[in-house]
Amino acid sequence: MKTRITELFGIEHPIVQGGMQWVGRAELVSAVANGGGLGFITALTQPSPEDLTKEIARTREMTDKPFGVNLTILPTLKPVPYQEYAQAIADSGVKIVETAGRSPEPFMPTFKTVGIKVIHKCTSVRHSVKAEAVGCDAVSVDGFECAGHPGEDDIPGLILLPATADKVTIPFVASGGFGDARGLVAALALGADGINMGSRFMATLEAPIHDNVKEAMVAADERNTELMYRTLRNTARVFKNQVAGKVLEIEREKGDDIKIEDLAQYVSGQRGKIVFEDGNIDHGIWSAGMVVGLINDIPSCADLISRIVREAERIIAHRLAGLVNPTGQAA
Ligand code: NAD
Repeated sequence: MKTRITELFGIEHPIVQGGMQWVGRAELVSAVANGGGLGFITALTQPSPEDLTKEIARTREMTDKPFGVNLTILPTLKPVPYQEYAQAIADSGVKIVETAGRSPEPFMPTFKTVGIKVIHKCTSVRHSVKAEAVGCDAVSVDGFECAGHPGEDDIPGLILLPATADKVTIPFVASGGFGDARGLVAALALGADGINMGSRFMATLEAPIHDNVKEAMVAADERNTELMYRTLRNTARVFKNQVAGKVLEIEREKGDDIKIEDLAQYVSGQRGKIVFEDGNIDHGIWSAGMVVGLINDIPSCADLISRIVREAERIIAHRLAGLVNPTGQAA
């Protein structure tokens, strides 16, 4: 399957594994790359820009295919030296960056000077239009179904994707709710040039997280996520567990008077990291999308990608083509 996204990034299949805090490490990114997709190392998973440089080198030892780095700019409990991370990416020779959270405009000169292609994650049409205007090469359009931060507009992919297709000319991948061939075909029909998957790639053999997390995703259905931080206007979709329940209880109690300090001990990323290391799925907050309702196995990344592409081709060639009357006459 050739699309504007496979052409732009020099990849075999139009399937992207976007940034995921604590998950986007060399093991997963190289497995996605070797399977013909495009994986992204998550910059902030590395404690310092120097560690990011080492993780990029480690990934290069595991694949000779293209891969990228995600730089997410959202509120954090401790200040993050974003420009230093951006410079480490530019100096590393990586040629693809996924930005998310806030406009990548301040970092564009750093990336563009060394010929990096930038794909920006957007949760609204207006953000995609802005991304195109500031020189992004592509966007990743993230519907309300997504894991992590869906923004505050609550527009699902079924509307957000064609609305974006009407307003931008750069290629875009559909993100949020994608996990199988049916999703890929739907995304292409809605105007996208490929799909981005996060949660689906967590439940793979190579994802560097505890098996309990993967098994919890397989066992979950589409109602097993919660939206939290609505009160802080930093909404996040996370796996429904005890800590998420506690956070929502505090949000209900405090209402608009809430401060991040009221939640910090529960939501800290360091606590979420332990979930992935130790496998106690109730220990902290971890992101997951509604697509958990479509995850039923834990394949290798290569098997997952080839299955999605093969089945998508079959859906297009048989089911969809079979619906069209070849004579053009009314049935
Ligand atoms: P962290 O430990 O610094 O913060 C934990 C959580 O609290 C994060 O979700 C953060 O957004 C939120 N937060 C912190 N300060 C806040 C404030 N002043 N107002 C509102 N919310 C606040 O973060 P981390 O877990 O180490 O993650 C690092 C970065 O990656 C954060 O910016 C986080 O938002 C982002 N992240 C994104 C996703 C995603 O799905 N897009 C998932 C996990 C983390």
